[in-house]
This record gives sequence, C-alpha cells and structure tokens, in this order.
Amino acid sequence: MIYKELGKTKEKLSSIGVGTWQLGKNPSEEVKAIKAAIENGVNFIDTAEIYGSEPLVNNAIKGTKDIFVATKVWPGHFHYADVIKACDKSLKNLGLKQIDLYQLHWPNKFIPIEETMRAMESLVKSGKIRYIGVSNFDKSQLIAAQAVMKREEIVSNQVEYSLMVRNPEEELLPYCQKQKISLIAYSPLGHGKLFAGKYKKLFDLLSNVGAKYNKTAAQISLNWLVSRKGVFAIPKASSIEHAVENAKATSFKLKLKDSIAIDVASRKHKRRSLKDTVNLPLSFLLFLKRF
Ligand code: NAP
Repeated sequence: MIYKELGKTKEKLSSIGVGTWQLGKNPSEEVKAIKAAIENGVNFIDTAEIYGSEPLVNNAIKGTKDIFVATKVWPGHFHYADVIKACDKSLKNLGLKQIDLYQLHWPNKFIPIEETMRAMESLVKSGKIRYIGVSNFDKSQLIAAQAVMKREEIVSNQVEYSLMVRNPEEELLPYCQKQKISLIAYSPLGHGKLFAGKYKKLFDLLSNVGAKYNKTAAQISLNWLVSRKGVFAIPKASSIEHAVENAKATSFKLKLKDSIAIDVASRKHKRRSLKDTVNLPLSFLLFLKRF
C-alpha cells in the first residue's frame, strides 16, 4: 500500500481508502470486507451521516487501531447548532470520541458559509473533530469556504473523479495540488459502470494492460488515479474479494507508456462541468428533503 500525507496534516493515509455509501444490504459480509481491507493496509474509511453506514463502520473498526475515519455533515444541517448536533450524532453512531475528518457533504447556497465554517472551527476547538474537509466544492466554493475561516485550513475536497469522469483535472485538481489540499476521488470505479459494458473499450484496454502486470481492470484503474499527486481513492466494495483486490491496487507501478495509453483512451469520457453536476441535483435534493 502506498501512504500519502492528507493535505498539510502530516497524517499518512492509505492512498486507497474504503467508501461505504450503499453498504448495509448484507452487513456481516460488508463488515468482513472492511476488516479485510484493513488487514491489507487500508487505514482510511469514508462515511456520511446520510449514508446510514456509520454504525456499520463502528462495528468494522471495533478493536482496530489507528484507523482514520472521515464522515460528512449533510447540507440540510449547515446552520451552526445543526452542525454541532449532527457531529454529536455521528460520534455516537461511530462509537468515537473524535472524528478525524469532518466534511461538508455538498455546498449549500441557502445557508451562509461563514456560519457553517464557524461551527466546523468550533468543533476542532472542542476536540470533537481533528480536520475539516469539504466535498463536491468547485474551486470558487473551496476558496470562499477557506476565506471565512479564522484558524483552520481545509485539508481535502472529495469529488467524483475516475477514468470516466476527469473534470476535476481542468481546474480543481491543479488548484488543490498547488495549495496542498488533498483530492479524495469518489466513485473511482464509476459507481461500478466500468464493469457494466457502457465503457467496454476502456475496460478492455484496462484488462489488457492489467494482464501484463497480473492485475485486474479495477486495480489498473485505481492505480492510475492515485498515481496523481495528492489524490486518494475510496472505492466501495461489498465483498472480501473486491476489498482485498482494491487494497492491493498500489503494489506495482505502471510503465509510462501504459499510463499514457490509459490517459488517451479515457479522455473520451468527459462529462459536464463539476459545477453543473453539483448544483442541479443538490438544489433538487434540498427542495425535496428539508431537514
Ligand atoms: P465505486 O467505488 O466507483 O464503485 C462501486 C462499485 O464497484 C460496486 O458495484 C462494487 O461492487 C464495484 N467494485 C468495487 N471493487 C471492485 C473490484 N475490485 N472489481 C469489480 N467491481 C468492484 O462507487 P461509489 O460507491 O459511488 O463510490 C465510492 C465511495 O465514494 C462511496 O461508497 C462513498 O463513500 C463515496 N461517495 C461520495 C459521494 C459524495 O457526494 N461525497 C458521492 C458518491 C460516493 P460490490 O459492492 O459488489 O463490491
């Protein structure tokens, strides 16, 4: 496993973490899968209050040491008192005294960012969280959130990034790399679409490259992603087999010519800008689900 520093924190996190969205269908197997990932060098687990997987993470990390736990506060909870309340609930769900990384799940233009970041800083001060991160923030939203903070620095931004969605490379990733803000790549396997046929040409290329290294398409894909400076990936795996496979995705180095071939093949899969991806569904969700 390759370990990298999270932001400027000096914390060494496994470049491959574990995502936990949509876990819970088969909890005992999924807990075993997370434990297997940990046994294979993963020390970084991502969850969120909205996923409902915090108690499952609690079970999976019981009795383990030095696991870095990241969770997220839902944008409907961005008023000051709601952030504190949500954090207390997540601490209880996770069975922790302190959350390592607390992230704003999506930007929320309906609540002033000053109020939310003030609450996040107060959580660091009271020792309930260690570091502050954001998720689904574009460059300007990231700069605005940092600008209203008095003491702390944003250490990470979690956004969709994969061989199928490379938009962060246009503006966000270069900015994060320059500022030493880590980019946590969510849906690094395209939410499973990589294996579903839609991206057959890319999948075939990854499988052919993988054959040379005795690795799978998933491993080549994850390896390529985390070989970018400052990038972590958090694939979700429900089975021990997938969890171990993902944890072993950094045990080799891609040759430059293979890396370039993957780069070229995947460039065809650009999507709409991150801002559109973020703002449209979020406004809709907030409209539907007012907490
Ligand atoms: P993903 O990790 O890109 O893909 C998960 C899918 O890939 C599942 O169907 C999984 O199958 C399959 N898979 C995993 N490892 C595999 C392997 N080695 N070989 C073949 N198939 C494999 O998708 P995701 O769950 O959307 O994203 C990962 C994590 O990112 C989430 O769990 C969550 O923590 C985070 N996330 C964050 C946000 C946000 O707004 N911040 C949004 C989306 C996701 P099995 O389950 O059967 O193993």
